[in-house]
Amino acid sequence: MTSEPFRITQAVFTELPVRGGSHWYFLELSNADGVTGLAEFSYGVNSIAVARAIAQMVEELRDEEITDETKIPDMVGLSPAFLQSDRVLATAITAIRNAILDAQAQIAEVPLYRLLGGSVIESVELYGNINRSMLKSDSGDSNRSPASFAAVAERAAEEGFGNIKCAPFDECKAPFDGSGLPDEAKAGLDRIAAVKEAIGDKVNLFVDCHSRFDLESALALEPELAARGVAWYEEPVSYRTHRDDLAAINAAATMDVAGAEDAYGVNVFQSLIAANVTDVVMPDVKYCGGAGEAVLIGNALEAISPGSVSMHSPAGPVSMLASAHATAAFNGSRPLEHAVWEVDWRATVLEPAEHIHDGQLFIPDGYGIGATLNEELMSSNGRRWSAT
Ligand SMILES: [Mg+2]
Repeated sequence: MTSEPFRITQAVFTELPVRGGSHWYFLELSNADGVTGLAEFSYGVNSIAVARAIAQMVEELRDEEITDETKIPDMVGLSPAFLQSDRVLATAITAIRNAILDAQAQIAEVPLYRLLGGSVIESVELYGNINRSMLKSDSGDSNRSPASFAAVAERAAEEGFGNIKCAPFDECKAPFDGSGLPDEAKAGLDRIAAVKEAIGDKVNLFVDCHSRFDLESALALEPELAARGVAWYEEPVSYRTHRDDLAAINAAATMDVAGAEDAYGVNVFQSLIAANVTDVVMPDVKYCGGAGEAVLIGNALEAISPGSVSMHSPAGPVSMLASAHATAAFNGSRPLEHAVWEVDWRATVLEPAEHIHDGQLFIPDGYGIGATLNEELMSSNGRRWSAT
């Protein structure tokens, strides 16, 4: 898609401590007219490497008039296949693409989802991921008991989330001793039973397995999940390293099998759905190529397999807002992920503040993604540096 040309004159990075040693990272790209596009590139311990890669790419792009952000990988000499194999560079390219899109929508004076082809929408449905609310906090608290899972899930259901996700299998990591269902899975199944009892049948439960299983244990686990009313079986094995196994699990499973949260580029997602490796793919706006690529993915796949695209969004408010614009633009029928209650000041990262109510994210009025970083919070709690 061609937009008003954007030439980068400044790149500013912000690191914001969140909790328990994790951080959110933001990129702001500006032009000579002072238009600034915002993106998030949080990628755990690799985030600083991503920032370095962004700085290098910005140097290469500095003299270029960017009209079509989908051409940026070409402009710096990186193919989609290479980017699928190098997650740091994929995350860096994705951040630049997202920041440029935000800026271009501002210049065009439209909300981002309109620039990306969507029709007018007020809010996007979320699902509540409860994992991060139960991670170790700065004070060292971490309660992973079934009762703790159930209490957080119940709160999410009460606050209007119709779909809730958890990752309960802390004790599991293939290979396992013996055959069939591993003993280590019992604690996770107890957590699932407690959650399901707390939220009832009207709320769907998604279970993320973080690739902790292998083919045999995943096949043995699936009927146990089905018996407990689980609606979604996420990455029992990795699509990257165990693609055929994941396809076999999907063929045997009665529930939706989901995955590919770290993939780059529309071709990878298309091939997973075409080959029935998963029922649902999960493009992450920080890794997949950005909001523009997510819309290519959504438009291509929702047309042939409705409900096959659900955006992965377990990080900060900037990436969730960009994901909401993308979901709105491809008219996604699946809810978007939201990591609930990670920190109580989360909404204030953005101006205007992030607005979530009754399981919906409200898209702010305004152009681009419709929000900027809260300068006061970034100055007091963040660390900022520029690329030059
Ligand atoms: Mg996951």
